[in-house]
Amino acid sequence: MATHEKVDVAIVGAGASGSVYAAVLAKAGKKVVLLESGPDWQLTDLISSDFWGRRIKPASGPFLLEGKNPFGYVYQAGWGVGGAALHYFANFPRLLPNDFKIKSEHGRALDWPISYDDVAPYYDRVAGDIGVSGDAKAEEIWRPAGKPYPMPPMKTFRHGEIWLKGFEAVGIRMVPAAVGMNSAEFKGRRACIYDGWCHVGCPIGALANPVVTYLADARKAGAEVRPRATVTRVLTNPQGTKITGIEYYDEKKERHVQEASVVVLAAWSAQNPRLLLNSATDRHPKGLANSSGLVGKYMMAHFSSGTWAMFDEDIQNHMGTTGAQFMSYDRYGKTSQPGTFGSSFITAGSAMKTSDLGGLANARVDLFGADLHAFMQRAARGLTRIGAFGEELPNIENRIELVSDKDEFGMPLAKIVHSYDQDAIALWNANFEEGLKIAKAAGAKESWSGRGNMPTIHLMGGTIMGTAADNSVVNSYGQSHELPNLYVAGPGIFATAGASNPTYTIFALSLRGAEHLAEKWSTVAG
Ligand SMILES: Cc1cc2nc3c(=O)[nH]c(=O)nc-3n(C[C@H](O)[C@H](O)[C@H](O)COP(=O)(O)OP(=O)(O)OC[C@H]3O[C@@H](n4cnc5c(N)ncnc54)[C@H](O)[C@@H]3O)c2cc1C
Ligand code: SF4
Repeated sequence: MATHEKVDVAIVGAGASGSVYAAVLAKAGKKVVLLESGPDWQLTDLISSDFWGRRIKPASGPFLLEGKNPFGYVYQAGWGVGGAALHYFANFPRLLPNDFKIKSEHGRALDWPISYDDVAPYYDRVAGDIGVSGDAKAEEIWRPAGKPYPMPPMKTFRHGEIWLKGFEAVGIRMVPAAVGMNSAEFKGRRACIYDGWCHVGCPIGALANPVVTYLADARKAGAEVRPRATVTRVLTNPQGTKITGIEYYDEKKERHVQEASVVVLAAWSAQNPRLLLNSATDRHPKGLANSSGLVGKYMMAHFSSGTWAMFDEDIQNHMGTTGAQFMSYDRYGKTSQPGTFGSSFITAGSAMKTSDLGGLANARVDLFGADLHAFMQRAARGLTRIGAFGEELPNIENRIELVSDKDEFGMPLAKIVHSYDQDAIALWNANFEEGLKIAKAAGAKESWSGRGNMPTIHLMGGTIMGTAADNSVVNSYGQSHELPNLYVAGPGIFATAGASNPTYTIFALSLRGAEHLAEKWSTVAG
């Protein structure tokens, strides 16, 4: 076993949330180490091809998937520096004020211990840090005013614009999408060339992935990234009153101990609870930070209702970005869709490639052989899609638990149990129905709903924030209620899911948590 010199901060995971903590704390003069189970990817490793792109995604996850709607783990998890945000679509909507107080306003779900106003200044700062393109003024029909984005909206293409007439017909206002991409050169990073390969990582650095943003800042400020280091336990002192460091295994399966004054778990919503549960001791028999029994509970996902439409013209559907061109919060009210409950966030205009998740080959899964060939010939020029993300409410039955099977390092695997309730299913269906109306009004030659298994997108929850140890795992800064020198970062700390893609909020909350930690360092560090 190797023991390493004590550092100020050990961060588990060098993805979206871990990179923010690393940048803030390294700049505050702390000695920071990021332990990352995957490789230390460089931009030169990113190749614009669906086949090559698979190398940057995990081949499997240490999770068993159960429930009526098993969570689609592998496609969404990150692996290596940048995490899933190395190859995300960088749609950057925010949560809105109504997300933070569903319990108070509707008597359902949970309230956050903070409000939109607590997070809003951090949205503005993240935009300035990493570069966001969009039209903030246009968005302010739905949210309080803030700062303008540092770059104007991205270019639009016919496959997005063609939908606008349809949205207008059903009374949905569309505005330029806010995206973490460069519509112009930004801080020495190139402007987007609209070739639509964001989903396998952007080799020119126009996509605001952590490798070219916060992680680059962290490295410049002296943070060390230790790739191929898989953390298996968080360690505590014999009294169980504070964290002392972490245990990890390297590629050769050698065990290491890294002592640290503060540990930040930033290994995503699934791995963070697994680590806390596996770190049980005599003093913490149910796992760390888990006297409430809430570690691994309230797992949440988004679902999407995609509507496909075929037009009889060349709509340049291969062009643009994998992120959206237009967005709307016009169905974001919790009761906007009659007979359902939960927000919907609407997008239009993602670039389409031949294969992979959003590819045109998957638009008609019922077709094979000659029929599929004929469809794809038309689809290559005339197919486009819109989507409505829907909100799942927190449900304590959706959970992560350890199981007896072990991974290659001897760490117990976990299972993710996930099922949607009737509210979610009703909202999913309502958004499909509205999607077909929009397609018809847009003049589509043919249109159909992209139904299949109900999708599970953006895993959130499992270490939710709240006001006290009996109703949550962490406070609004991500600090454990029970072990003050333990922080948790990422979408796991969301108390509810909203319908907006989560990463802009992940960056904002991580910036808020990291700055709080830096400020309170002398009272927090062990
Ligand atoms: C295809 C795709 C498209 C997406 N599009 C969008 C979008 O448009 N907008 C949006 O908001 N979000 C999007 N997301 C989601 C977004 O990428 C995630 O919300 C975000 O990356 C989560 O941040 P995180 O820090 O919690 O985890 P990650 O960024 O995934 O980082 C976690 C890191 O922890 C590491 N790790 C895990 N376990 C261990 C361990 N035991 N020891 C050491 N390291 C470990 C992983 O290797 C990984 O690098 C998308 C994701 C995918 C996959
Ligand atoms: S479309 Fe733009 S952001 Fe996406 S991969 Fe291409 S250059 Fe990068």
